[in-house]
Amino acid sequence: MPISQDLLEILICPACRAKVELKEDASALVCQNCGRSYSIQDDIPSMLIVEECPSCKQTAMMQVEGENLKCPECGHTYPIVPSSKSQVPG
Ligand SMILES: [Zn+2]
Ligand SMILES: [Zn+2]
Repeated sequence: MPISQDLLEILICPACRAKVELKEDASALVCQNCGRSYSIQDDIPSMLIVEECPSCKQTAMMQVEGENLKCPECGHTYPIVPSSKSQVPG
């Protein structure tokens, strides 16, 4: 019983703010909205956006800027949710 249901209830994706779900093998939390996953180590989920920058290809902790993520290495910004999945307002 690594992650309590109470904790799951309050955890959200740090990128898109959607709710996350526990992976079947309980090794990670997965966001159903943007598809990112967050690993769980020692029963503590790591809710950081660490991924490869599409521009400079460095793995970095991305910063949230509105609807985008910003790479601290090269300053490149890109959408949190890929455009194919994003909803058109209205
Ligand atoms: Zn997300
Ligand atoms: Zn970059």
